[in-house]
Parts: sequence; structure tokens; C-alpha cells
Amino acid sequence: MTHETEFLVLGGGPAGLAAGVELGERALVVEREERPGGLVRAECFGGYWFDRVLHLLHFQDPPLQEWVTGMPDACLAPCPPVAWIDSEAGTARYPLQLNLGALQQETCIRALTELAAAASGGGQAGSDAPAYDDYLLRSFGPTLCDLFYFPYNQKMWRRPLGELAASGQTWNLLRPRLEDAVRGALAPNRDREAYNTTAFYPRPPAGAPVRGMEVLSRALARRVPRLHLRTTVTRMDLEHREVHALADGAPVIYRYTRGCLSTLPLPAAIAMSTPVPRELADEVRALPHNGVLSLAFSIRGARPPSPGHWRYYPDPALPFTRLVFMAEFDPLSGPADGWGVLAEVPYRADAPPSVREAMDAARMGLIALGLLDGCEIVDENVMVADPAYVVFTPGAEAVAGRARAHLATAGVTALGRYGRWEYSSIAGVMADARAWAAGAAQGRMAA
Ligand SMILES: Cc1cc2nc3c(=O)[nH]c(=O)nc-3n(C[C@H](O)[C@H](O)[C@H](O)COP(=O)(O)OP(=O)(O)OC[C@H]3O[C@@H](n4cnc5c(N)ncnc54)[C@H](O)[C@@H]3O)c2cc1C
Repeated sequence: MTHETEFLVLGGGPAGLAAGVELGERALVVEREERPGGLVRAECFGGYWFDRVLHLLHFQDPPLQEWVTGMPDACLAPCPPVAWIDSEAGTARYPLQLNLGALQQETCIRALTELAAAASGGGQAGSDAPAYDDYLLRSFGPTLCDLFYFPYNQKMWRRPLGELAASGQTWNLLRPRLEDAVRGALAPNRDREAYNTTAFYPRPPAGAPVRGMEVLSRALARRVPRLHLRTTVTRMDLEHREVHALADGAPVIYRYTRGCLSTLPLPAAIAMSTPVPRELADEVRALPHNGVLSLAFSIRGARPPSPGHWRYYPDPALPFTRLVFMAEFDPLSGPADGWGVLAEVPYRADAPPSVREAMDAARMGLIALGLLDGCEIVDENVMVADPAYVVFTPGAEAVAGRARAHLATAGVTALGRYGRWEYSSIAGVMADARAWAAGAAQGRMAA
């Protein structure tokens, strides 16, 4: 079967869906899974709801916020997050650099002195750093780096931080004004703002068929008139502007007359495209990335009192970087006598861990932290996100740029977190996709 369409959108995650909403009947959205949403889906395990990876929706862009929160079926409720860092010098609220008063006094004084030195560099101390570890050191000083930034990021990136470029992943790191750091050293810093302060999470009514951030994906998908699910793209013929796919196992060809948006992971898009110069194909195949195991524990027993929405764990002895407490986002995410916790375990995609061992280690971690006292685990499940994090090494952005430029020669624009090969949020990819769609509809086809 052959479908012809003005605009073809590959992938039905938030980027592809946002483009599909914007272009309406003019676009056809192709998605391999049974349910739309990509990474932004949720699973229910025996009455306990978990996001596939935790998703909080945060905005920097008021018009986009208005558009999304204006969808009543997305059921979005304000959810400014409370996050904690459990460090060996004390438990402090995130972001640490604004809440130094929670740390042991000597650590607090040293950290503040070093932040003052960093701030005396005009607040630009990190922007020209050659590598990520330098960036962190110049931004926050050795005390906060040794306490949190270095061990946490080692667990996150699973490679020496000196190998990472100081770009791409720094937008959500708040480099405070000295005055704000001092305020947080003297008293709890209640006025602090972080990148995700203006945040939302779905709170559908009791008995709703879906919970978690998938509620947003479903609301978007309802507004996409032409969405082909269970359709896996297998080949992109750049010369003839055709995309080959398998729809429920049957071959289908899609032809686009105006343009194509690919939100598929860039390495996958290049690997299935012809023609692609051999050198570019090799470079793109070698782009590093990390996956994440989301280990979902369903627990019967009293909910922990005020754990925060999530907690970060820099301690290398604990296997997870973060624990996420689902009932803090949505009290109806589990039964009244239970709660769910997601343990996030990042891994190098070229060295995936044993899921069984990761689950055992995470369970031991929960016990060691005392979280299971008086409680009982009733179910354990794993959800895998791969790719989860693009790894920014020197040169990686240039390779990704060349790959995008190659696709653009055939009218294919690569967008989205994995399509562009970037570190971005749901709101960020939706904003980019809507801008592309608006431009495309008016005949502007910028890559
Ligand atoms: C651990 C973690 C935590 C995060 N937390 C947050 C958060 O709190 N807030 C936030 O805003 N963002 C968060 N993000 C980022 C957010 O998940 C992404 O920005 C967003 O999902 C990207 O959407 P996308 O549409 O670009 O990609 P995706 O969601 O990956 O969508 C791509 C789609 O393409 C489909 N596809 C792939 N291959 C094919 C094929 N061959 N044929 C057809 N379809 C295909 C996939 O099934 C998928 O549906 C987090 C990410 C991770 C990994």
C-alpha cells in the first residue's frame, strides 16, 4: 500500500504529536508502538502507576504553557517539585548551591567561599571550560563538586567527566548569584527558582483509564487526525523522498510531497537512510549515548512522610542516581495503603547491565535507606529507555549537525530529543516541532 501526504512525521512522541496537531489533515504521523507518546507513556502494574521515566512538565515559554494547559483532557495540575539531595554532609534541598545552610557548617562555609570566588569571575567562569568537569569546578568550586556534582555525574554518565564536552547538558544547571547562595546558607531558601519551578503533572479523576504523563500524550494524540500506530519505519529513501515501513507486519510506502519531520533517534534514521556517505554513517554509528533502567517497585505499607517528589543519591555505593516517589505527583497513582517508587539506573548503551542484578542492588539500596521499614514489596518491574541521554563528547555535536544536514537535503528535518540528538525537555521538543510545523505550513522548510 502507498500513502501520499504533504507532510510526513516519523515518531509519535511529544515532538511528533505536537507537529501532527499543528498540521492537522496535512500531516500523517507514523508510530511503531501500540500507544502514542514515545518515552512519555506510563504503565500500571497491579494498581500502581509508573511513568516509563519520570516526567514533570515544565515550561519556560508562556504561549506554549497556555496551549498545553488549555487542553482540559490533559488534566494538568500545578506541581512545583520538591527535590532533595542526600549527601554525606547532610540532606539539602535541590538546587544544592541555593540551600547550603542544610549542610554541615564547615562544608557550608567552604562551599560559600568557593562560590564567592567563582562569582568574582563575573558569573562567566564556566562558559569557556573545555570539559564538563572543568565547567562544574569553575561554576561551583571543589567542595560542592566533591560532595555532589562529581560523584552524581559519574553515576549518570558512566565515563570520566573530562571526556565530556561542556555543552549541551548545562542548560538546567543554576549558577547562582552570590547573594542568593548566601541567603540559602543563612535560612531555607523558599523563594528559589530552578529550571523546573513552573511545572505541571496530570491529576485525572479517580478511576481514569490512564494516569501519569501519558495523559498528556493521549490528549495530544486525540488532536492528531492522521496517526498510524503499530507502523515501524524500516527504510528512508532520500532520493525518491519515500519512507518504507511495516504496518502490522505488512509493507507500506509513504511519499511526502512537501516535507518530512523525523523524530526517530538520529543514528537509527541515518542507519536506515539511503544514500548516506560511508564516512558519515560510521561517525553517526559511533555517537555515544546512555540508557536508563527505570526500576518500578510497588510497595504495600504506609507512605513515607514528605519524601519530596524525588531524591538524588551521589553515593557510589547506591546503584541509583535518583528515587522518584510517584504518590507525591499523584496521590491516586497507587492504592491508599501503598506507594510506588521508581529507581533510576543510568548505563552506558555499549555496556548494558544485568537487569536482575540492577533490581537486586536497587532493592538492597531501598532497604539500606530504611525506606522499606514496616513495608513490603508486592511487585517489581523494569522499564528500559534507550536512548535516554545523548552523551556530549567533543565532536559529537558536529557529527550530529552533519547528519541532520544530510537528511535535510531530502526535505527531512530531524527534530526532538533523539531526532536532533540533544538534551531537551518535553516542552522544548514540542516548541521546536510546533515552530517547524508553522514554518512548513507557510512553505519555510528550515532544517
Ligand atoms: C530519565 C529521563 C527523565 C526525563 N525527565 C523529563 C522531565 O521530567 N521533564 C521533561 O520535560 N522531559 C524529561 N525527559 C525528556 C523527555 O523524555 C523527552 O524530551 C521527550 O520524550 C522527547 O520526545 P520526542 O518526541 O523527541 O522523542 P520520543 O519520546 O523518543 O519519541 C520518538 C518516537 O519515535 C518512535 N519510533 C522510534 N523508532 C521508530 C521507527 N523505526 N518507526 C516508527 N516509530 C519509531 C518511538 O516509539 C517514539 O514514540 C526525560 C528523559 C529521560 C530519559
